[in-house]
Amino acid sequence: MKAMPLIICIAIALSPLTALVSCTDDEVGGNCSYSLTVTADADANSISVDESVTVVNTFEDGLTRLVFAFYPDAYTLKYPPPADGIMLDAAYPYGLNAGSYSFLEAGGDNVKSVSICDTPCKIVVDLSSPLALGEKTEVRFSFDLTMPYCNARYGYNDFSVNLTFYFPQLCRYDRDAGDFAFYDYVATGDPFVFEVADYSLYLDCPDDWTVACSAPTADGNDEEKLFAAHSLRDLSLILVPEAEVSSATADGYTACVIHDGSYDYAARYAADALALFSDAFGDLPVKEYFLVFTPFMTAGAEFSNLALFSASLSFAETEKVVAHEVAHQWWYNLIGSDQVAAPWQDEALAQWSTLYYFEKKDMKNYADALRESWASSYSSYVESQRALGEDALCDVFRATTEYRDFADYYITVYCKAALAVGLCAESVTKDAFAQALSVYAKEYYLGFASRNSMSECLDGFSSGLGKMLVSSLSASLYDKCTSLTPLSR
Ligand SMILES: [Zn+2]
Repeated sequence: MKAMPLIICIAIALSPLTALVSCTDDEVGGNCSYSLTVTADADANSISVDESVTVVNTFEDGLTRLVFAFYPDAYTLKYPPPADGIMLDAAYPYGLNAGSYSFLEAGGDNVKSVSICDTPCKIVVDLSSPLALGEKTEVRFSFDLTMPYCNARYGYNDFSVNLTFYFPQLCRYDRDAGDFAFYDYVATGDPFVFEVADYSLYLDCPDDWTVACSAPTADGNDEEKLFAAHSLRDLSLILVPEAEVSSATADGYTACVIHDGSYDYAARYAADALALFSDAFGDLPVKEYFLVFTPFMTAGAEFSNLALFSASLSFAETEKVVAHEVAHQWWYNLIGSDQVAAPWQDEALAQWSTLYYFEKKDMKNYADALRESWASSYSSYVESQRALGEDALCDVFRATTEYRDFADYYITVYCKAALAVGLCAESVTKDAFAQALSVYAKEYYLGFASRNSMSECLDGFSSGLGKMLVSSLSASLYDKCTSLTPLSR
């Protein structure tokens, strides 16, 4: 996600078509294979979903329960609204309004009971018979969504229907904790942590709507609204009743911009970024990327193979936001990390990748100006906090739940952590650091990297590089910000 600069700043009868594109048993690549049927009515805010998820138990012998996250529950207003206070008006331009959902069925052959959102956003499925390692089970859900009018990841507005994290999705299994890692929805940052999974989707919506989906159109099908892909971090779906579509290609990648006619130039930026980052960090498995410019509450937000962008972005801002969001296809979609416990890990790399993009496009002056703007924001924040007598360490190693407010989060994650990564890169040269990141990307391709595994990987590339990254992230860079000289390794 790219925040705006703050200085401001039951058994389900699945349709035959769903079954047609379901992944076969042999094709289950990760732990999960999802088959979805999504029906959207022309009024845009009523969605029906049939879901079947097959889970292969690679977690623990005798598994007795599964834990899913269901984020539409965060938008019911049963809890504080799902937007930081300073973004509330941007999220709800016509005032707060609640979304709702109704489960018609939830069950499966080996399901004893299902608890739906007794804890906010959490679905717990108790199994009738414990699963041995290697065994699989199927859970089925059928539910209707009434979406809020909301300029967020989930909701509809005058331009688009934003369906992201809109169905029960299996939480990541934390082997150290011996349980599924469930996080309550928090408005700050990206609250979603999932392993990659296989997906197939049949979409029933009006023929003239434009569709951006994380999964490509299913191979071998002439039908336009069948989508399927292996190993995606999420399966997002953006529906746009009236739109213009612009595209650009580079090195086998296609960037499609869905917009109101104002952002056709963004396709070239995205295609350039896809080509540049794939050259630096390695190829993406999916070669099509969607950008949807919509009345969005922040500058942008990343999902698998697509991103949402604010339709308020100026011409001057658009390229950097596009580069940042495209970089998340590596530092989120391809290489997973814990975005709640360690939000800096994907965000700081996306920020540094943005600098690298401009350097490689012979826009070094712009890259320098961007980095200096982060340093200036960070320094100003530290000074203002010190003047208030507040602790201004800007500790990077905090979970999203531990930040004082959005300013603290933005300055720490998007500025300080990005500067720390930049100092580390300067110590080995930017191209060498990009090469180190390509090793990291290869090592954790479609997997999940902890902070330690990242620093160990960097140390393996160049002795002391990972340790230097951790020490840079841990230090107060306040004094370094004025000169931006590299820290010693
Ligand atoms: Zn981001």
